[in-house]
Amino acid sequence: MHEWALAESVIRTVEKLALDEGLKKVTKITIMLGELQQIDSDIFKYAMEELKKTNPQLLGDAKLDFNVEKAILRCRICGYEWGFDTALDELDEAERESIHFLPELAHTFVKCPNCGSPDFELKTGRGVTIQTIEGLK
Ligand code: ZN
Repeated sequence: MHEWALAESVIRTVEKLALDEGLKKVTKITIMLGELQQIDSDIFKYAMEELKKTNPQLLGDAKLDFNVEKAILRCRICGYEWGFDTALDELDEAERESIHFLPELAHTFVKCPNCGSPDFELKTGRGVTIQTIEGLK
């Protein structure tokens, strides 16, 4: 039930932001989901809709908008940046499958296309971020 815990913390954060901004009603919440964030986005969206009901005055009319953040890899040696989807294209199906279940394994299979180094970091594509909230004062 990782998705519910995450949705709960997003809702609480939105409540806090709304309070800081002096909003009486939140009309729209835009959330960015990292491509490699290992959550079931349908469950997460459902949890968000349900948790909105715990604070109907503030969140009852809030429209939820979800964006997916593309995963970008960055080589630590030469600074080259490339998309995770491109990296996956180079792999065979078994390797892709392994990475899907355990993204940490990417370092075993993926190499920098520019210099060949396996030393890279995930620049974007993880986590859940509240991008914007809109509302009425
Ligand atoms: Zn490199």
